[in-house]
Amino acid sequence: MRARQLWNWIYVHGQRDFAAMTNLAKDFRARIAEQMTLARPEILTQQVSEDGTRKWLLRTAPGIEFETVFIPEEDRGTLCVSSQVGCTLSCRFCHTGTQKLVRNLTPFEIAGQVMVARDALSDWPSTGENRRITNVVMMGMGEPLYNFDNVRDAMAIAADGEGLSVSRRRITLSTSGVVPEIPRWGDEAGTMLAISLHAVRDELRDQLVPINKKWPIKELLDACRAYPGLSNAKRITFEYVMLKGVNDSIADAKELVRLLARIPAKINLIPFNPWPGAPFECSDWVQIEKFGDVVNRAGYASPVRSPRGRDIMAACGQLKSASIKQRASSMRAASEQGSA
Ligand code: SAH
Ligand code: SF4
Repeated sequence: MRARQLWNWIYVHGQRDFAAMTNLAKDFRARIAEQMTLARPEILTQQVSEDGTRKWLLRTAPGIEFETVFIPEEDRGTLCVSSQVGCTLSCRFCHTGTQKLVRNLTPFEIAGQVMVARDALSDWPSTGENRRITNVVMMGMGEPLYNFDNVRDAMAIAADGEGLSVSRRRITLSTSGVVPEIPRWGDEAGTMLAISLHAVRDELRDQLVPINKKWPIKELLDACRAYPGLSNAKRITFEYVMLKGVNDSIADAKELVRLLARIPAKINLIPFNPWPGAPFECSDWVQIEKFGDVVNRAGYASPVRSPRGRDIMAACGQLKSASIKQRASSMRAASEQGSA
């Protein structure tokens, strides 16, 4: 009973002060306050884009810094959550992939991103009407299936109707294709799934998404077909980053549609978001439209994802880069001052 009341205060109401939990006995509140803290990850910076997207840089320990992004839309608000500091994989178009893995985030650090965002957006209680955060996507920094247990435990809190109350149907895990963990994720977490496909031939996918060398396209799609509970109402999202002259031909579009033919799927074309030194350019808009037409004609509605928060480096694949750059330049400034 007490655990339930505590859980409700913490995750439904976002209460950070035990003393304010007035339906719990006073001595119990005092005792628990000595043993536990309800501290959040510390906010280092908050940036707001001209399109309303917000990005927070958070810290929980020296060097453990990670970002979370809120994307408001007319009918929903999506929080893009990080699972790792850095990433062990090195997809060629992704800035996070140029940073080594520092460590996996803990369940507290992952669920804490939702809590910090709810604080900043005055979005408590979790069960309120007109909530601002209605959806969670594991599309921030890191490969969530390489931090399986922690992400699963955090998403259990996120999905719990008496917890952070974001339903499983509104939580999406994005993976670059850690095939053996896909069925396990379906069984143990059962959220929506997104796959970073990005290429329709193994030779090219081997280069763009190197995990493909371990688990090629066929194995990945077989795991998708077997994902539990798929239907027209519960589809897998296939993400496809548009790289000029690399994967954006009409033949590629046709092959994409053919590959996904018997999988309940959505297709999300993502204009490439550039970062300093990136070895690619975004496809021309005309080409994205032509590619999108092929996908559209095959029955997939509105396949192009409009880039959000580019001005604050908050778009897909750009995370952490700005802060690292900032730090590097402030360190340079400090050392220049020191030597002056
Ligand atoms: N590691 C997971 C989730 C994080 S990345 C994964 O790879 O799926 C979230 C999405 O952004 C992925 O589809 C990823 O491929 C894509 N992405 C990465 N860098 C990008 C960039 N520079 N421009 C556009 N999309 C990018
Ligand atoms: Fe890691 Fe995903 Fe970036 Fe690939 S795209 S390097 S898996 S974060």
